Amino acid sequence: MHYQQETLIQCPYCGETLDVLIDGSSGPQSYYEDCSVCCAPILFILTEDEAGEIDVTVKRDDE
Ligand SMILES: [Zn+2]
Repeated sequence: MHYQQETLIQCPYCGETLDVLIDGSSGPQSYYEDCSVCCAPILFILTEDEAGEIDVTVKRDDE
């Protein structure tokens, strides 16, 4: 089952904890979203586990 979920992530640039809304309805994907604190482009990587839960990984653009 896919749905939107709120997730806490830590900005890989400034280290701030951010409350982001993840849209899992499109399945596994990756996209950029600017940090609301430091405005750096965070790479969000969405993966789906066997239970259909969306896991979120965040990375810096330059890693
Ligand atoms: Zn940031």
